[in-house]
Amino acid sequence: MSQLGERIAQFRKMATDDPENELGHFRLGQLLMEDGQHAEAVNSFERTLELSPQFSKVFQLLGECFIKLGQKDRAVEVLTKGWATADERGDKMPRDAMAKLLTGLGAPVPQAQAHSPVDDGPGTGFRCQRPGCMEGNRARQLPAPPVPDEIGERIQQTVCAGCWNLWFRDLSIKVINELRLDLSSEFGQNEYDRHMREFFGFEEPAAGPVR
Ligand SMILES: [Zn+2]
Repeated sequence: MSQLGERIAQFRKMATDDPENELGHFRLGQLLMEDGQHAEAVNSFERTLELSPQFSKVFQLLGECFIKLGQKDRAVEVLTKGWATADERGDKMPRDAMAKLLTGLGAPVPQAQAHSPVDDGPGTGFRCQRPGCMEGNRARQLPAPPVPDEIGERIQQTVCAGCWNLWFRDLSIKVINELRLDLSSEFGQNEYDRHMREFFGFEEPAAGPVR
């Protein structure tokens, strides 16, 4: 089996074993796309969006899949919705990428909302405690714990949405890629948690038995 084929198999297993994990579906979709399996990738990305409807980058990739599949109408629909989601969240890179794709399809790009940038307001009142957070008084609290456990609650209470997104969309995937973590194993999950805690500046949990 090719290396890509092996990784697809690994993430397919992760997505099956842990069907509520949007990251698993997301990575599987990306790998399928890389492998030219666009129809399959659509399923993974649609599942990712069911679990994480604000994940704007997924709309972009889903739109690209529909373009590859020659389903222009669905591409326009998904990209238009994704553009609005990205704009609302201030996700500039996926937003601009989706605008380009829409233009390439000959479809109109939605108008930017006139919402004033958050940074000239009086502040949101939420303070992010992550060392190195750049959001300052623009920091927004996540509407809900991003993962359904204790650490998720802690993240919601102490870390801003910007920092969570930075971790979730970018760094967590790098950690998984570069360390080749298999999140279906206990070792992989522990390593993943450790990197996440380090990023958020959480102290290590009380020293337990080292495996
Ligand atoms: Zn922050």
